[in-house]
Amino acid sequence: MSVAAAFAGMRSVAPVVFRAGCPDCRGRCELAASALRLVIGASSRTTFYSFTCPDCGAAVRKPAGERIVELLTGGGVSTLRLHSTL
Ligand SMILES: [Zn+2]
Repeated sequence: MSVAAAFAGMRSVAPVVFRAGCPDCRGRCELAASALRLVIGASSRTTFYSFTCPDCGAAVRKPAGERIVELLTGGGVSTLRLHSTL
């Protein structure tokens, strides 16, 4: 079954929701694009995404690989680029 078919009976415009795990309370939360922030640094070590856990309020920061960066930017998450293009 395609994704489109699976959602055919639901609202036509579904908000983009990302699933993330919280290391503090070990809960899994669903976050809207507006709740996430992506920071792209000069290397993969300084590229991460952050959010505030809706369950325990912890500020969570996790490394973001190439696929996650694509996923988040494609989903409308606000992105901050730290490195210059020089
Ligand atoms: Zn939490």
